[in-house]
Amino acid sequence: MIAEIEQTTLGSLISKQRKYFNSGATLSYEFRLQQLKKLKQAIRSNEEAIFNALKRDLNKHEFESYGTEVGIVYEELNFAIKHLKKWMKPVRPSTPMALFPSSSYIHKDPLGCVLIIAPWNYPFQLLINPLIGAIAGGNCTILKPSELAPATAVIIEKIIRETFGPEYVATVQGDGAQVIPDMMNNHRFDLVFFTGSIPVGYAIAEMAAKKLTPVILELGGKSPCIVDKEVDLNNAAKRIVWGKFTNAGQTCVAPDYLMVHHSRKQELIELIKKYITEFYTDSPSQGDYGSIINNRRFDTLKKYLDQGNIICGGQTNEEKLYISPTLIENVSMDSPLMNDEIFGPILPIFEFHSYDETFELIKQNPNPLAFYLFTKNKATEQLYINKLPFGGGCINNTLIHLGNPKVPFGGVGNSGIGNYHGKFSFDAFTRMKSVLKTQTWFDSGIQYAPFKDKLKML
Ligand code: NAD
Repeated sequence: MIAEIEQTTLGSLISKQRKYFNSGATLSYEFRLQQLKKLKQAIRSNEEAIFNALKRDLNKHEFESYGTEVGIVYEELNFAIKHLKKWMKPVRPSTPMALFPSSSYIHKDPLGCVLIIAPWNYPFQLLINPLIGAIAGGNCTILKPSELAPATAVIIEKIIRETFGPEYVATVQGDGAQVIPDMMNNHRFDLVFFTGSIPVGYAIAEMAAKKLTPVILELGGKSPCIVDKEVDLNNAAKRIVWGKFTNAGQTCVAPDYLMVHHSRKQELIELIKKYITEFYTDSPSQGDYGSIINNRRFDTLKKYLDQGNIICGGQTNEEKLYISPTLIENVSMDSPLMNDEIFGPILPIFEFHSYDETFELIKQNPNPLAFYLFTKNKATEQLYINKLPFGGGCINNTLIHLGNPKVPFGGVGNSGIGNYHGKFSFDAFTRMKSVLKTQTWFDSGIQYAPFKDKLKML
């Protein structure tokens, strides 16, 4: 009975959004711009509450919450506000002479009513950033936050409720495994934008296929990090420690495992240890270091600690959901640690003698979401960039490629379908509609029957 009532409420919400979209209310530049500005204002007014929620869900320090969540959203909002008019303008390509006297244009159509589903690890920005694309694109949106970051889910719902009517943007809460199939099997969306794990990505794609609903899938996987022999090792260590242990390793683009040239391994290990202590002190649980999201994830991660020899770290505290930044070696390629996406503060390290060995190792988990290479050698850089399929990545850094709104962010193969950020978000939430317009003052008539000798005229 309860499920039936929920279904009716959901059904009426979705039809309200469809009706609102069909009214044309979301189409104009002025409307979209105003909504983006309203969203920015609402986030500003709720900034402290967002920080508190992220602290509760993931023990994130305010600075980290700003840098990796709220600040990223402001950047995207500012970028969209600045460029929206240009993005909306039809593109006018040239038209072949054979179609004379005609001109062509590509109109950017909104998709309609879209569903955005987010994970728990960056629970604010991974829901709100796609929403910026949806608003810029002129769509109506249902947002599904992660139930595993409940404090953030509550503040998001409050912001959305206070800023938009439900016929335009609404939040639906609950266990994804129940709520999403209810929505996707019983209703049709014009796009499902999903960020989350690979197995759930498959389930989303399957449900979407039944209704020919387009999907964008932002998934995960194992992102390799290579440290070459010709390298600024100090910088490499600092940036790897930052990229791996931010948010306690619970970052989709975190370096998952490390491959270092055998001649630099020991030095790198010493520097990594040094930076772990420098960033997080001798007792990271007391410092600016995150916690594991829940007991289930804690148990999974704790088991990984037995799958190799711990070089440093390895301390745990279940009550605090704490696992210290850990470097681990002698890990078997058959172990879960090297087959699952780690998604926690445990970094396996391998040494290599030739680049071929690194390609072999990466082949075990191909098409990573991110790839990181530390090298001073341009030929080495080109070797990996040309040969390796990966979503995106950095040379001599980690994570920060996703901070540039002028480049697309997305995966390849198992790590995802489609991309977004900046103008790519606008493109993700719109469809190119081609129009050819012919003048009436001339008609060559060549295409009409009877054809007789017309072939000779071509
Ligand atoms: P998840 O796939 O378990 O959950 C993501 C969302 O899907 C949640 O809102 C959840 O409620 C919903 N969901 C869960 N089970 C479902 C089901 N059976 N059917 C429909 N919906 C369901 O992922 P997670 O644990 O929240 O997040 C971690 C994963 O997300 C990691 O694999 C990580 O790499 C990936 N991730 C990817 C990106 C990216 O941008 N590519 C960013 C962050 C996280």
